[in-house]
Amino acid sequence: METFLKQIAVSDLCKGFVYNELEGKGLFGLDGRLTIQPEYQRNYIYADGKKDVAVIDSMMKGYPLGLIYFNKTGDDTYEVLDGQQRITSIGRFLTNRFAVKDCNGMEQYFDGLNVETQKRILDTGLLVYECSGTETEIKEWFKTINIAGVPLNNQELLNAVYSGPFVTLAKQEFSNSRNSNVQKWSAYINGAVNRQDYLERALDWVSRGNISSYMSAHRQDLDITELKTYFNSVIDWVSAVFIDVENEMRGLEWGRLYERHHATPYSPQKVSERVNALFSDPFVTNKRGVFEYILGRETDTKLLHIRVFDEPTKRTVYARQTEKAKQEGVSNCPLCAAGDNANKTKIWKLSEMDADHVKAWSKDGATSIENCEMLCKTHNRAKGNA
Ligand SMILES: [Zn+2]
Repeated sequence: METFLKQIAVSDLCKGFVYNELEGKGLFGLDGRLTIQPEYQRNYIYADGKKDVAVIDSMMKGYPLGLIYFNKTGDDTYEVLDGQQRITSIGRFLTNRFAVKDCNGMEQYFDGLNVETQKRILDTGLLVYECSGTETEIKEWFKTINIAGVPLNNQELLNAVYSGPFVTLAKQEFSNSRNSNVQKWSAYINGAVNRQDYLERALDWVSRGNISSYMSAHRQDLDITELKTYFNSVIDWVSAVFIDVENEMRGLEWGRLYERHHATPYSPQKVSERVNALFSDPFVTNKRGVFEYILGRETDTKLLHIRVFDEPTKRTVYARQTEKAKQEGVSNCPLCAAGDNANKTKIWKLSEMDADHVKAWSKDGATSIENCEMLCKTHNRAKGNA
């Protein structure tokens, strides 16, 4: 790969700057010769009134803005490899899309600045590395750089590596905060649309966790029907089974749960009653486990992290059980005592035993001292359910 360092004035760089408000993208610069937002670039994420303002502040104070990298795509055409956020911030400022404070602390748009300040900004030279090489070389290299202090996350990297028509279409659907479905999806999915978290989830679900191979196989596809259909099936299924939307649903592994349970019939009304009962049960400490627990016909109580007995309770019950067992000449684990092997008379140490609910939590047994029994670890594990 060849690189060539040069300096470009802000006035040249932002000549003919076009910003697409709808997609939140800076599109072109250098009088049409520069593509600011190639497909593999992340969405513009600096429009927060802080990072974009900081870029302009730095420039007004004469601080360096860091290196910018272009990929040479033709005789005199380029695309931005690294620096898109900074260039878009500058372009948006020059086209009066946001204001910064001037030296008197007054909010000013570019047009409102005095002529000397305007000129200083326009004359600022930015250091640009022009790179030319094969697609593979450039993408490999792109994987190793970070952009202006915000490292690319995993999905942003994958979008770069597998750029093409499929990623373009997929981003239009899943990385677009103006998509009216995002509100509904956000009940079940964590993260930010513009950081590709929704796209990542959609790909994770349809690929059963093999995102890279799926993206590689579909890279040149001209439609995303399978991706969309599968994603919508999962969302529709969750929202049909669970008619109440709870905060704890967000970010659960809905793809896996859909695969395992979507063929099972549920009564949404009964499910809703069970969700409410388990949410108000003080012994259920992991509310996020409630949904999978119900989907699995309420068998796997481990999902709920049922409140455990505290140390003083365990010690009290241990002392009581052990004293009685010694008097009777049997094991202090009641299940060992009832057996007929060498452990029948064994006195276990406290550290060798675990507390168990005499009457299971799932059968309304409380986590209280009256319902506590110490078992040796083997018997406690074998008994299993809380
Ligand atoms: Zn035992």
